[in-house]
Amino acid sequence: MTAARRWHAELAWLGAGEVQAGVLIEAAGPVLRAVTPGVAASALPPGTQRLAGLTLPGLANAHSHAFHRALRGITEAGQGTFWTWRERMYQVAGRLSPDSYLALARAVYAEMALAGVTCVGEFHYLHHGPGRSPYPDPNEMGRALIQAAAEAGLRITLLDTCYLTGGLAPDGTSMPLSAVQQRFSDGDAGRWADRLAAFGPDEHGMLAPHARAGVAIHSVRAVSPDQMHPVVEWSHHLGAPLHAHLSEQPAENEACLAAYGATPAHVLDGAGALGPRSTMVHATHLTGHDIELLGGSRSCVCLCPTTEAFLADGIGPAGALAAAGSPLAVGSDSHAVIDLLDEARRIELDERLASGQRGRFGAAALATAATVAGHTCLGWPQAGEIVPGALADLVTIGLDTPRLAGAAPATALESVMFAGTAADVTDVVAGGRDVVREGRHLLVPDVPAALTKALRPLLA
Ligand SMILES: [Zn+2]
Repeated sequence: MTAARRWHAELAWLGAGEVQAGVLIEAAGPVLRAVTPGVAASALPPGTQRLAGLTLPGLANAHSHAFHRALRGITEAGQGTFWTWRERMYQVAGRLSPDSYLALARAVYAEMALAGVTCVGEFHYLHHGPGRSPYPDPNEMGRALIQAAAEAGLRITLLDTCYLTGGLAPDGTSMPLSAVQQRFSDGDAGRWADRLAAFGPDEHGMLAPHARAGVAIHSVRAVSPDQMHPVVEWSHHLGAPLHAHLSEQPAENEACLAAYGATPAHVLDGAGALGPRSTMVHATHLTGHDIELLGGSRSCVCLCPTTEAFLADGIGPAGALAAAGSPLAVGSDSHAVIDLLDEARRIELDERLASGQRGRFGAAALATAATVAGHTCLGWPQAGEIVPGALADLVTIGLDTPRLAGAAPATALESVMFAGTAADVTDVVAGGRDVVREGRHLLVPDVPAALTKALRPLLA
């Protein structure tokens, strides 16, 4: 039996509407039971924890590859392209074992928690040992990620990714897997499905109380249309989220057109991979008809604006996608930085740069992308709002930091979404449990040391 908890937020944005003052938030175990604005500090029950600043629902990082954290900074020396960055990423992938991946992912997820993330969508394709030799438990790598999330205090949706071919050549022919890519492949989609079955999700798709199974098609580069069906079937069978990388680079579109005579969005639609449970990641280079397909099917689009900037991918049509009906979520993807406030604000800032106009996405729309839309696309629709019945995820951002000092209560959400950073996060509660208190991670006491220790052997 978990004890009742109470917090008193100086200011809180509850997931909709205006910022409220003096909000008493009460939970029993992992679930919120009551939310009462306008409660004076003098009227609080004993044992209530004070949260100074602005409290938001927990942030969802809807697209992560934990091991890409190893590339931060080092790939900025010299020039290079998306494709040379990918080569460097494969070098790191080639070195990871279940033990070293557990240590790295725990540290990376702890960094996320410090940034206010309460749930991560891990797009996981590093399934096997070198040369595709399976581990004794063929899901050992996935289990390491689930353990890492538990030890860092986050929920996780493990998006088990089907990855079968080495890419599409410009003429549309399928390329063989490289030596490192062998680790990503199960051979064919039938064997991918067998491995996922051995992972043992329950009838609700849960792998552990904090871990949900999702599925992913890596991209049209890595999975041919005739191999997509088992992935789509698993999504239906488990009611599980289905994610895919979509049109990140113009070269992907050109090769897809050469191979299949259709854009990646059309290929995925033809395979039944679009719909309200589906999330397309990046969606940067789209035709007008692609946008109609995504919006009309209510497929979510996960934008990763910092990664898209770091990799020179381009600026996606966020405004047109939202207008067509696609919910928008955000992810830190390659972890060039881990700052969901930065990701969310770039939706609007990129739109301004591309359109020459301001004000398509206001602070509440950006906060929605980082909270409820992200949790929903990861299969946790009961998270991302501060309302009775929701999971008790709270993220408090200090308003007395150098960046946010002087913020006015009436525009505190605008201040946080347009000027706040991960460094301003003071307190994080995930599922009713304190994870970060006054800027300190309570489960991983020295996050920088944990990152350094995990990264050093991978980069030696
Ligand atoms: Zn990705």
